Amino acid sequence: MSDLEVLFLVLALIYGCECACWARRGSVTFRTWFGRRWRPAHPSALMGNQRGGVVFGHPLPPLGTLLTGNQFPLSLSAEAVLAHVAPSVNPGWRPVQTGKFLRLNEIRNVEASGKKVFINGEVLVKASSATFATFVAQQLRQLIKLPVTEREGIIRKMIQDSFDTKAIENLWQNMHGETGRIRLLTNCLFGYLFLAAPVLCWFLGFRQCWASLLAGLLVLTATTAVIFRRIHKTFYPAAEDERFTQFLTVLLSPATTIRAHDLLSRPLLEGFHPLAIAKVFCAEAEFREFAQSILREIRHPGLPVCPREEQAAQMAERHSRTVLSEVFEQFLKQSGVEPTELARPPARADDTSRSYCPRCLAQFTTTEGICADCGGLPLAPFPAEETEKQKAR
Ligand SMILES: [Zn+2]
Repeated sequence: MSDLEVLFLVLALIYGCECACWARRGSVTFRTWFGRRWRPAHPSALMGNQRGGVVFGHPLPPLGTLLTGNQFPLSLSAEAVLAHVAPSVNPGWRPVQTGKFLRLNEIRNVEASGKKVFINGEVLVKASSATFATFVAQQLRQLIKLPVTEREGIIRKMIQDSFDTKAIENLWQNMHGETGRIRLLTNCLFGYLFLAAPVLCWFLGFRQCWASLLAGLLVLTATTAVIFRRIHKTFYPAAEDERFTQFLTVLLSPATTIRAHDLLSRPLLEGFHPLAIAKVFCAEAEFREFAQSILREIRHPGLPVCPREEQAAQMAERHSRTVLSEVFEQFLKQSGVEPTELARPPARADDTSRSYCPRCLAQFTTTEGICADCGGLPLAPFPAEETEKQKAR
């Protein structure tokens, strides 16, 4: 293999790595290739760890789009904040959470630095991105400023806002309108790096054309970086540090330049619940399937639901989950989905199945017991078993 072939191979490998995005558990990525069909993607269990996993963007033109939604990482009540949320938006285990607990009247300051949110100088939570950490800190500041009597109302409003599909549609339309030129440039750059450059080098020789190829590359990357910076400022005005770092990367690393639109779109909807994003972008069947898993998580979260002994911490967890459940079921009804319909037991795998786990839907041959995978959650008998039990009584 010649040096030039090695060079293009290395470039292709670097680009492949750029298409692999790290997603923290607690977040769901939505991706599309041509912009018509969107699918939810959870952090990969195979290429990941307890904290998160890889999600791949579409590598080939038109390069696709990635959007991310998060579950709010704090349980809140009028008195306390707990850095633990019992339901999980991802299949499998919960995201790693600090379980830190504070009474709201003990909070002196709330700050976001990088991806971390600090309370009184100590890490409360590590968010999926710097912009989401800023969002969480803002929500918390807003809550502690209010008198105790008004806090429950604002907690409910925060959760309702995270299901606001109109706001999602508006934000997406604005972003879609703004990013047309950057998409054109990144697709041109893809063609330039992986088609035009190898062909020119092959026919003319590297020595003959390297200077003009480099000049063309600089024009494309610099124009993309300047437009990237302007759009980033429009949508994320407060994220100055992140903008500066990403601007430099887009300017200097052509493989990142091709994925510049991902850097712009991924944080756009991160303050919204993933199910609200699914409602706007995904097909009805996918939305229902996702809603079903969220409903099971909210009604039957894995045990223990709260990692702390303090009564105020347990109340914060319960209060947040109760409000989430009410808002979520209201959202389902507005979307034309009846929660009781989604909560139906699964079909029996065979005649020996007598009960199932209401969270992970694993089936068991006994009518009573617990699901060890879900932390000891009591099993639910299939309706026929329930009738037989009642007859025996
Ligand atoms: Zn289970």
